[in-house]
Amino acid sequence: MVYRQPEYNRAFRCLGGACPDTCCRDWEIVVDEGALADYRAAPAGLREALADALAPDGEGEVCFRLRPDGFCALLTPEGLCTIQRDWGEEHLCAHCAAYPRFTEEYGCLTETALAVSCPQAARLLMEAADFALEEQDDGGNQPPFDGVEAELLAGLEATRARALALLGEREEPLWRRLAWLLAFADRCQDYVDFGLYGQLARCLLEPPQAEGAGSLRGLALALLDACAALEPLRPAWPALLRRRREELAGLDGEGYRRARREFEAACPDWEGHLTNLACYLIFRHWHKTVNDDVLYGRAALVGGACVLLYHLCLLEWRERGALGPEREIALWSAFSREVEHMEENLSALAQGFYDLEKWEFLPALMAREP
Ligand code: SF4
Repeated sequence: MVYRQPEYNRAFRCLGGACPDTCCRDWEIVVDEGALADYRAAPAGLREALADALAPDGEGEVCFRLRPDGFCALLTPEGLCTIQRDWGEEHLCAHCAAYPRFTEEYGCLTETALAVSCPQAARLLMEAADFALEEQDDGGNQPPFDGVEAELLAGLEATRARALALLGEREEPLWRRLAWLLAFADRCQDYVDFGLYGQLARCLLEPPQAEGAGSLRGLALALLDACAALEPLRPAWPALLRRRREELAGLDGEGYRRARREFEAACPDWEGHLTNLACYLIFRHWHKTVNDDVLYGRAALVGGACVLLYHLCLLEWRERGALGPEREIALWSAFSREVEHMEENLSALAQGFYDLEKWEFLPALMAREP
């Protein structure tokens, strides 16, 4: 079995009460059976508080109740978890104990990512010099789980390494690297569509071709519309997207080009930050193609996330005259919460992006602007 994770995972420490957000807000956390049994033996006082804080959701599973303001009923005013503070970390339910670690298991391979919905995970990713992976092999040589096509997984391993190498060519502009990525994923998708999994590793990247005059701003407007129409976790997210859409649509061509030039000069780290984010998204989502054969849609999701977050940062910088890491992290975290963690939203975008003609990513990414 191979175990793999980004190197910066080891540096993660939860910020606890110093967190600028909290993972104890808005999410209905399903409590596992082991934790429920544990909670029945909680110390007096906490046992009653736990009983009051647990409630069935619409599907009959037991969750932590959310207060009207969206915070977990067990979150203290200091931003601490009552269970952890009064009883110990070992009594957290499986979800709370794992977050922000998300582990994918394929039988022969186990990978762990830190979700950037957590501000501290986002900061570690943003500040990493590059997106380096580390792995260990226990020598067990286990086969993939039933239902995981071994040839497809092997092909995804080879093609994801190639995709990460493409993104790692940092002397090239980010938009060009993303265009390469999408062209590469489109080629790979052809093999997946025909079940030619064994030939995936032979995918060659030809220089991407784009027909028609694309516009990065046009793509950003379409992405802002599409994301604002998804089911929101927090209403502030679609409200922000709609407001930014109007601001972007209100810029004339020269105003848009000038804003980009000035933003990129004022925030020169934007490209390195988004490169790391793109690598993280590739790492976290590429292999999930084993579940549904949708590879191109996932690559387009990476490109779409970069275009969307670039414009949200640009417009925020334009409004405030500055963009500190805290605001950049807050935007990354919001995107992750609203898209990565909302399974329906994630698959709606990935499936929607599969429609190449509608989205026209390549002409937009290859457009020569500003
Ligand atoms: S969001 Fe991250 S840093 Fe904040 S409380 Fe949760 S795990 Fe800790």
